[in-house]
Amino acid sequence: MAKRDYYEILGVGRQASGDEIKKAYRKLALKYHPDRNPEDKEAGVKFREASEAYAVLSDQQKRAQYDRFGHVEGMGEGMEGFGGFQGGDFGGFGDIFGDIFSEFFGGAQRGGPRKAGAMRGADLQYNMEISFEEAAFGHTTEISFPRMESCGQCGGLGAKSSKDIEVCPTCHGTGQQRMQQGFFSVATTCNRCRGAGKVVRTPCPKCNGEGRQRVTHRLRVNIPAGIDSGARLKLSGEGESGSGGGPSGDLYIQIGVRPHQFFHREDNDIYCEVPISVVNAALGADIVVPTLDGKVGMKVPAGTQNGRSFRIRSKGIPHLRGKGRGDQYVRVTVEIPTNLTDRQKQLLKEFAEIDKSNSGKQYPLMEKFMSRIKEMFG
Ligand SMILES: [Zn+2]
Ligand SMILES: [Zn+2]
Repeated sequence: MAKRDYYEILGVGRQASGDEIKKAYRKLALKYHPDRNPEDKEAGVKFREASEAYAVLSDQQKRAQYDRFGHVEGMGEGMEGFGGFQGGDFGGFGDIFGDIFSEFFGGAQRGGPRKAGAMRGADLQYNMEISFEEAAFGHTTEISFPRMESCGQCGGLGAKSSKDIEVCPTCHGTGQQRMQQGFFSVATTCNRCRGAGKVVRTPCPKCNGEGRQRVTHRLRVNIPAGIDSGARLKLSGEGESGSGGGPSGDLYIQIGVRPHQFFHREDNDIYCEVPISVVNAALGADIVVPTLDGKVGMKVPAGTQNGRSFRIRSKGIPHLRGKGRGDQYVRVTVEIPTNLTDRQKQLLKEFAEIDKSNSGKQYPLMEKFMSRIKEMFG
């Protein structure tokens, strides 16, 4: 499918400023975020599309490249490509989320009453590529990725010690400032403490007062049996730590399944092709068939035609939630021998001689075809 133009996706002009692009993305992201549209696949697609467009257009270098060359393979990598990590290497994708979503999620929607200055941590997405077998039977693996975590030295305080935190002298701890505007008194967030009500006198030297630091986090992940490409696992609270006592974000694991050399999958059934010789097809034979559980023998009856499918029950993919497995379909392709020896040619010629006499019974397709030719041309 042809990719849509990034500017078109975000609904902005080609001259749009960084701010306009951010605003446009914010609007789309809030509208289509999967958490708001859990049942809506199309919203998920739109969300990814917008995120990809934003990732490129918000980066000056990538935007310039896009303006000159259009869509380049692998440009949205990290968004759609597998194995990349979106939070870290993306020039602050995590920050985009932090920026845009912490406000959205950190508010009343989640996490109960909001503390002054508390921000929910950013959601992260990890793209994981797994093998066909791992998808079929499940898989436990350890992943590592960078994320913002509460600072180990100050425990998220951001101060050298708890004595270095004092009540904000500007707002006296309320987190709000009252401003007189004509007749009205308007409450705004205190700009000294940014609503926290507290200020740090001596910042923690390890995190420079941030309260959080970027660390490489290791995590064991269980991939359930039966999962398929495109599935997304949500690990609640495994995203970035919140700040100011806010809750952690979530980690999403986007699954991609590598193609298999024998099998392809449709729902929980798997399909494979097995070549057999013309002799085995005519006389019938026991052939060897690969399955997800190893090799098995399969009986091919005499007179098997090219392209015929056989079903092997319960050799497909285990059902993701529930019992049982899909089936395996084996499609045989009849291979005509090449480079015959003189002896083989001789035998086939002899075969052809006796083959002429009773072709009607043995070749119903040819028989039918010839009679139609006769009907048509006389
Ligand atoms: Zn610290
Ligand atoms: Zn204040």
